[in-house]
Amino acid sequence: MEECIFCKIIKGEIPSKKLYEDEHVLAFLDIHPESPGHTLIIPKEHHKDMFLIPENELTNIMKSAKVMMNRLEEKLHPDGFRLVQNNGIVQEVKHFHLHIIPVYQEKEEKTVEEIYEIIKK
Ligand code: AMP
Ligand code: ZN
Repeated sequence: MEECIFCKIIKGEIPSKKLYEDEHVLAFLDIHPESPGHTLIIPKEHHKDMFLIPENELTNIMKSAKVMMNRLEEKLHPDGFRLVQNNGIVQEVKHFHLHIIPVYQEKEEKTVEEIYEIIKK
């Protein structure tokens, strides 16, 4: 998958603000966050979407979603979370990704860089 931007992030060919990594998945901050702490979790193997990703990879994604939600909860104290996964015409990047989007009652105004300093280990 030469053209895939998320495969390039996995290979380290383009930079990302990495938050979590294991042999199966990578989690990093979304470059255009809907809210502070907006995180993407992707499988290290290229699978396009929900139709094509194997079940075991989904398990890996959801396990790391739990890890990331706990970390975001602890560091940022949001009032809620949304998990979003787009397919078809609403999917911009054609490499499966799960959005973890913290929700705040009061609007938080922090840059991706400021948030990264708070959340990174
Ligand atoms: P979607 O495919 O619509 O579910 O969303 C793709 C998401 O990827 C968007 O929220 C983008 O802001 C995000 N995105 C695109 N390129 C990058 C990148 N290089 N680093 C981090 N996030 C990205
Ligand atoms: Zn890819």
